[in-house]
Amino acid sequence: MENINRSVKCTVEDCRHHCRSCDYCSLDTIRVGAHEKHPSGDRCTDCLSFAEKY
Ligand code: SF4
Repeated sequence: MENINRSVKCTVEDCRHHCRSCDYCSLDTIRVGAHEKHPSGDRCTDCLSFAEKY
């Protein structure tokens, strides 16, 4: 059965951990980081748990 973590909404359908049937992550926890030294908006942060689909 597909695991759905309803605390983590996500629309990145190209991620291996995305719940295909709805816009949630399937992982129990995720790691988020910033790719800018001084983040100033959501465009500066990323989900570091992203994994490419097989
Ligand atoms: S690991 Fe990150 S990018 Fe992938 S489905 Fe979960 S929240 Fe989305």
